[in-house]
Amino acid sequence: MSPTLTDATPLPAVATDGLSILESPKSAAETFGIPLAVLAELTHRCPLQCPYCSNPIELERASSELTTEEWKKVLSELAEIGVLQIHFSGGEPTARKDIVELVQHANDVGLYTNLITSAVLLSRDKLKALADAGLCHVQISFQGNEPAAADRVAGLKDSHRKKLEIARWTRELDLPLTVNAVMHRQNLHQLPDIIQMAVDLDADRLEVANVQYYGWALKNRAALMPTLEQIEETSRLVETAQERLKGILAIDYVVPDYYALRPKKCMGGWGRQFFNISPSGKILPCHAAETITGLDFLSVRSNHSIAWIWQNSDAFNRYRGTGWMPEPCQSCEFKEVDFGGCRCQAFALTGDAGNTDPACTLSPLHERIFKTAEAEASGGSDRFIYRNFAGGTPEAGSGDAS
Ligand code: SF4
Ligand code: SF4
Repeated sequence: MSPTLTDATPLPAVATDGLSILESPKSAAETFGIPLAVLAELTHRCPLQCPYCSNPIELERASSELTTEEWKKVLSELAEIGVLQIHFSGGEPTARKDIVELVQHANDVGLYTNLITSAVLLSRDKLKALADAGLCHVQISFQGNEPAAADRVAGLKDSHRKKLEIARWTRELDLPLTVNAVMHRQNLHQLPDIIQMAVDLDADRLEVANVQYYGWALKNRAALMPTLEQIEETSRLVETAQERLKGILAIDYVVPDYYALRPKKCMGGWGRQFFNISPSGKILPCHAAETITGLDFLSVRSNHSIAWIWQNSDAFNRYRGTGWMPEPCQSCEFKEVDFGGCRCQAFALTGDAGNTDPACTLSPLHERIFKTAEAEASGGSDRFIYRNFAGGTPEAGSGDAS
């Protein structure tokens, strides 16, 4: 795949954070049919502290999380309205003591279940219990391939070794495995080894997801932004590996927006193919949507059904379709291809979620963000601000990545 999106380049069929969205032939924008896949962020608690975490800076506390019974009711309602897949995520979903019970319930109501996990809290027994409860798929995030460097990114000692162990158990239990590798300036050099690691782990799929910059990643942008040369090299490498590993390992690739020519079709278009549910039950068009101020996201604890919120709530309808678009999007031939890009990124970089995503070359701000990316990639400090409930903790010491 080309390093930058050109007219001839298909847009990635992968949403941010590696959640694949199934395209329903009937879920076209004009119908706003219920999505086939929903992401359930069970908790924002996590033993890791990744500096690019997609959770909001203001993490939701355990005390506000939906109870087991509330989540079960949500899962039943999702199945009733036609959702087919539930992706259990977080934070770390296995930090919930009821994870096996929730997987069992999802399975009972007929949902395909995927566990998106950092894996470090799992034991073999817990994994076996999840498999017995009907878990269909496991997706494990890796911070790299070099143990010390990966542990540094995670902010947790011995995490890489643990992940490898759980990944092996996953395959021993005959569960399909996706390796999710989040890539940035400080680990892109490891990509050839990460690809080999995914093959050695007998993974079905590898997601090579360059960091997208909002929330914690925006806070850490200077430490994470790759150089253009790195991205060009990565794209060549991925393309070669995709060809070489056909039939062995499927590789999805998400390019970083700042070096793109056109923005990604974020979440398949706002309120078009996807929603996620926050730990406290808020229904969101994407996991980062709460970074946009001024939108009122309704909760499953409100008096409205999930289907009503999806169809009718102001937050979903605000940027749906193409009617809301300003120029240059409004008269652009790609407006139903990328739906104007990412609203969260437009808000983060322009202060108005209704603006054209600056990742687009037609945005008046594109040149500026490209230059920012170049400057940060070559001159940014390598030190991280770790993700935590205190609003972030700067890394101690020099922060030298080597
Ligand atoms: S990105 Fe890292 S810190 Fe955030 S939920 Fe995933 S594993 Fe935890
Ligand atoms: S102008 Fe808008 S619709 Fe056209 S390519 Fe850019 S972001 Fe997409």
